[in-house]
Amino acid sequence: MSVQQPTARSYSEPSPALGDGGEVYRQLFRHADGAILLHDLEGRILEVNPQAAALFGYREEELLALRFSDLNPSYGKHRSLRALRQLRSAGKVRFTADLLRKSGAIFPAEISASLLEAGGMTLVAGCVRDLSERQRLATELERAIASDPLTHLPNRSLLRDRLAEAIGLAQRHAGHRFALLLVGIDRLRSINDSLGHPAGDRVLRVVGRRLAEQLDPGDTVARLEGATFAVLRRDVGGIIDAREIAEKIERALHVPLVVAGRELVLTASIGMVIGHPAYRDADDCLRDADTALYRAKSLGGGRQVVFQPGMHRAAVEHLQIEHALRQVVAREELELLFQPIVCLRQGTIVELEALVRWRHPERGLLTPDAFLPVAEATGQMLDIEAWVLRQAACWCYAWQARFAEHAPRVAVNVSSCHVSRSELVSLVCEVLGDTDLAPSRLRLEVTESAMIDQPEAALAVLTKLRDRGVSVALDDFGSGYSSLRYLHEFPFDALKIDRAFVGGQPRSSAILRTVVHLGHELGVTVTAEGVESAEDLARVRALGCEHAQGFHLSRPLDGAAVTALLAERPRW
Ligand code: C2E
Ligand code: MG
Ligand code: MG
Repeated sequence: MSVQQPTARSYSEPSPALGDGGEVYRQLFRHADGAILLHDLEGRILEVNPQAAALFGYREEELLALRFSDLNPSYGKHRSLRALRQLRSAGKVRFTADLLRKSGAIFPAEISASLLEAGGMTLVAGCVRDLSERQRLATELERAIASDPLTHLPNRSLLRDRLAEAIGLAQRHAGHRFALLLVGIDRLRSINDSLGHPAGDRVLRVVGRRLAEQLDPGDTVARLEGATFAVLRRDVGGIIDAREIAEKIERALHVPLVVAGRELVLTASIGMVIGHPAYRDADDCLRDADTALYRAKSLGGGRQVVFQPGMHRAAVEHLQIEHALRQVVAREELELLFQPIVCLRQGTIVELEALVRWRHPERGLLTPDAFLPVAEATGQMLDIEAWVLRQAACWCYAWQARFAEHAPRVAVNVSSCHVSRSELVSLVCEVLGDTDLAPSRLRLEVTESAMIDQPEAALAVLTKLRDRGVSVALDDFGSGYSSLRYLHEFPFDALKIDRAFVGGQPRSSAILRTVVHLGHELGVTVTAEGVESAEDLARVRALGCEHAQGFHLSRPLDGAAVTALLAERPRW
């Protein structure tokens, strides 16, 4: 039995299966897996398959009346000419072009063209592949890689690219300036802790949307990480423009937002940099903005800070403070001052507010704003407050022993981070037990921000403290959220009006009058803070404030000086 070997055959020979092949090739052409067009060297379309007609949105006979240039608007332009030259020299070419459908829609396509000789003519056969889907996926992928999955805003890497472009622009054009703002949402951690991470995520999405809505289309709004967003404006006149952007952002964030059934008012710390040609790269610029943001946060939040070259030094100092603070109580470097609060009806001292100071070994006496925000941020506040409470209680006990019914009460500030924690109740009870001070001699001062994060927990803590006989004052009223809700719902005994309303501006009188009225309606004592002159004193007295505190009455004094003052029984 002999095995028949296939014999080699050239393509120009007729195929036994296809005969001369005309009909079969025609079928292949018509059923090919892709759009094919045949045109002559002038571009006149001579043949198309149904896939080509479908791709361009024409009927086949309509296509046959067109030229390839009708489908390729860039036909005859540089890139197409180059493709044609290559086609002529190599016999085939593959190139991409934006083609035109009958509807007028442009789509990206890849064209593989080859030269054919048929019937004495040179023809071009073009297979056209629609790249729209591939391009859409590529864009989507690019966007996914360059965007933050939570907010869908650009991420750090895209921001760095845009920042590098802005720096390049500033280097090429003298006088061109850009602004970079880093926006840190305050208290996001406590929102996460109290309302859960889904609530925190929702807050971030809302912030992202509000930032994007507020800004110009040319600005880049990105989310970097955690609670930090960035805004890049490529063309600014100077710092005034950057401040305007910051104010816009603050206004947008201030609109209350309901998350997990709770109304939140957000604030942000903003660090700003005006970009200049001296920046070498995006990271330099980001580092400076970050330093400014760090400073804004350490001022207690809700602040805008413009980067200054000296801030790097300040940031290092901040770290040193953080380090030195660790030992502050053990090294006995804290001191306590007391500022008298005067009853305006009797003219006598009814209360002494305890104000902490740090005698820093190298930098001298520091006021609370220089170190309490650091202590709060690094979890060292409880030790400091326990020390203050104990000292204040000891002094108060001593004054009570010496001046009996003339001895004032003592008021101690409680930081926002402790108001909602049950440790505060045990600490107060322990100190009262140890020092033998009557609970009615102690008042705690809390600010509104303390209530905003965890109102239920704060209410529980304050109610327990009041049940033990300790009174509570709402401090700095008017400086923060000034939500009347807290006044109604929380068991305050006193309301301290922030000194911003006590100084002499005309508008503040009206506000002061309203707050005093409100306090009286609610049955709480009203204290005016920051009374700095005889006029201030007369005004707050006339408006009906019961108590007043301020430099005009007395500066904060140390314990011994208070003893001497009380012995004089002063009257105002
Ligand atoms: P605060 O509770 O509102 O205390 C009043 C602040 O206003 C004190 O500043 C006081 O010196 C200042 N002040 C009083 N009268 C006047 C005045 O007439 N004019 C002006 N311009 N200022 C006046 P200080 O001692 O620097 O304290 C600042 C803040 O630090 C306090 O504000 C309080 O919130 C916080 N703080 C102080 N000690 C403690 C503490 O032991 N624990 C906590 N958590 N916070 C404290
Ligand atoms: Mg206070
Ligand atoms: Mg105050």
